Amino acid sequence: MEDIAITNARVYAPHLPQGFYENGFITISAGRIRSVGLMPEFDAPDEAWIIDAEGGLVMPGLVNCHNHAGMTLFRGLADDLPLMTWLEKHIFPAEARFVNPEMVYWATKLAAAEMILSGTTTVADAYFFEDESARAFTEAGMRAVAAQGVIDFPAPGVPDPKENVAVAERYLERWQENERVRPAVFAHSPYTCSSKTLVAAKEAARRHNALFFIHLSETAGERDLLGEKWSGSPASYLHSLNILDEQTVCVHSVWLDEKDIDLVAESGAQVVSCPESNMKLASGIAPLAELRLAGVNVGLGTDGCASNNDLDLFGEMDACAKLHKVHRLDPTIMKARDVLRMATEDGARLLGMKDVGLIAPDMRADLIILDLNKPHLTPFYSIDNLVYAACSADVVTSIIDGKIVMDDREILTFDVAETMDRVAEMACSVMKE
Ligand SMILES: [Zn+2]
Repeated sequence: MEDIAITNARVYAPHLPQGFYENGFITISAGRIRSVGLMPEFDAPDEAWIIDAEGGLVMPGLVNCHNHAGMTLFRGLADDLPLMTWLEKHIFPAEARFVNPEMVYWATKLAAAEMILSGTTTVADAYFFEDESARAFTEAGMRAVAAQGVIDFPAPGVPDPKENVAVAERYLERWQENERVRPAVFAHSPYTCSSKTLVAAKEAARRHNALFFIHLSETAGERDLLGEKWSGSPASYLHSLNILDEQTVCVHSVWLDEKDIDLVAESGAQVVSCPESNMKLASGIAPLAELRLAGVNVGLGTDGCASNNDLDLFGEMDACAKLHKVHRLDPTIMKARDVLRMATEDGARLLGMKDVGLIAPDMRADLIILDLNKPHLTPFYSIDNLVYAACSADVVTSIIDGKIVMDDREILTFDVAETMDRVAEMACSVMKE
């Protein structure tokens, strides 16, 4: 791995009023940021690969805290439907028919291409045949938390639901030693997993010091459904099963009441919000301002692109900031800086990565460079424009773990054209059904 120096850059510094400083440099060695400074102090390290940013902005790579990368095959397969109809009539049958190891591998690679090209360097994924996703992320050079799905139905790779937790635990064991792609468990939801399955899956995650993801309180229907079986809310149900703790990530968390927010905050559990998926499926608006005020760490996710329909965190940040403002009729909430934090350092912290998501010496070198020499980014008074004006195509370079994975919008780690061809071939069979 060669040393890298980025020169003549605007450097992301969210604590400053404009959120960046001009004319900076960053040096990188052995996968980490070594020094950050101003160009007059720059002393080129011996034999470093120099990237002249030409006034572009260097910022931490974005962190997508919730995805089902294998589902890129189902992008746009069934739009404009309620969650339960979408899931039960379209997604679950398509998954039963088309999900296999090869499909997950290529669909995940396609997702990785889309994410790298749109500035994401770290992803938390959750699906079936997760070995294949983990392998695809490894080859793509991304940082990932890859969670094996657990559900109480016959599922891809897990025909007997009685084996679901054992399959997940063996998966955790296989990927234990990998530093850049870490294994985790994903229990689909409180309405598709029994209490016994949820407890066993959480115990397996605890035994391996792994994160435990779960879709929680996504729709009002889920809350009502669970209310018939259990007298309380989905969050209080998980609390009663001793599942909420610092290593539990509650995805969506749209229908949380005040008591639920207190429970989540006291437990140390974290929340991922996927505003575009929640908007498209008309699930509702998560109480993010209240959660953050209660001290809950919140990350941002795209969800799988079957319900979004893309994996673009620049679009997601823009939607998140504006959705909460119009919902509360208050333009001062969910500020651009809050959303940027969620998509960088807070997201990294949520995934247990304390050395990711900020630009400072000794942090992991997960960085992207944006070309600001564009009409829609001129003038560039502050990084708030990253939320309200920038788009994924502005990202020109991506460095992950100190390695250049994209240069001048070309992915260097794998063949994107081959990946699109393979997924397009599979899509032909999906279309014929
Ligand atoms: Zn999801």
